[in-house]
Amino acid sequence: VITGNHKVQQYVEGVLAGNRRIIAKTMTLVESLLPLHRRMAGDVLDMLLPHTGKAVRLGITGVPGVGKSTFVESLGLSLADKGHRVAVLAVDPSSRRSGGSILGDKTRMEKLSSHPGAFIRPSPSGETLGGVAARTREMMLVCEAAGYDVILVETVGVGQSEITVATMVDFFLALMIAGAGDELQGIKKGILEVADAIAINKADGDNLKRADIARQEYEIAMHMVTPESPTWRPPVLTCSSVVAGGTDKVWETVLEHRNKMKASGEFEQRRKKQAIDWMWHLIDEGLKASFKENQQVIAHLPEMTHDVREQRLSPTSAAEKLLSYFLSL
Ligand code: GDP
Repeated sequence: VITGNHKVQQYVEGVLAGNRRIIAKTMTLVESLLPLHRRMAGDVLDMLLPHTGKAVRLGITGVPGVGKSTFVESLGLSLADKGHRVAVLAVDPSSRRSGGSILGDKTRMEKLSSHPGAFIRPSPSGETLGGVAARTREMMLVCEAAGYDVILVETVGVGQSEITVATMVDFFLALMIAGAGDELQGIKKGILEVADAIAINKADGDNLKRADIARQEYEIAMHMVTPESPTWRPPVLTCSSVVAGGTDKVWETVLEHRNKMKASGEFEQRRKKQAIDWMWHLIDEGLKASFKENQQVIAHLPEMTHDVREQRLSPTSAAEKLLSYFLSL
């Protein structure tokens, strides 16, 4: 044990033993903003780190109503039934405001949440250092150390959070539905650039034909996007969460991608790059937080904001002055 802290040791042992109560407590610790908790969480995560990294990390995004929760439950159940241990995490930026979250809603994922092989954690709520998505990344590591071998990260397709989630998973899946309009589904926001696959959801019943037309349209759209990897051209699939086996093809695609990326070495590269990017993300957020706590900054910020708004001061010199207060300490 590097740290003599008895409590840290208890968290680590509980997580490694797969104790659900302690896993949940560890996540609460990870979410905490108290400096003591932050330090403890850092120690816990350091000790868990050697036990992480083995899971399949799959991110799922899409606009509200596209069927994310239903998809996650359906895929999660089919994997858990096959003996996988499945953890579901959610990144819902709106939970910051409402104090609740989509996944906090108990009616969601009822079957999966009662499966002994599954663990579901709602979105962190309230203010968190580094943002909701950063905490989710740490929770992912906790789940891996606890033996979960599939991590499903669900994110609402609004705002910046989905792009952040894309940078913490091995495979980023964008769910779409037929006929909802490109604008609505975030095509313009660069989702196609970061997606490893597109799946047209609700391809069942009367919807089959429309789903296939949408698939062809998205295929054309994808041809205009330069793939990030020379090894992988993101495919456009169809899927359904209400038909038996309706998500199988998506999972096969995730595994195919994994095999190819591992063979080419890109898998390791991507994970390493993600870890470094995450460190810088936390440094950025940490700097900004301490900047905003600086007494001189607090004293001058309102007046300078006012002067910039009234065009009496340029944004450049305002930023320079504020930064000089901060840096002279
Ligand atoms: P989310 O907001 O993206 O999480 O969407 P939900 O999972 O809550 O699903 C929105 C609605 O679509 C619900 O009424 C679901 O029953 C329905 N739905 C979800 N998946 C499917 C599917 O594969 N096929 C059909 N026909 N309906 C679906």
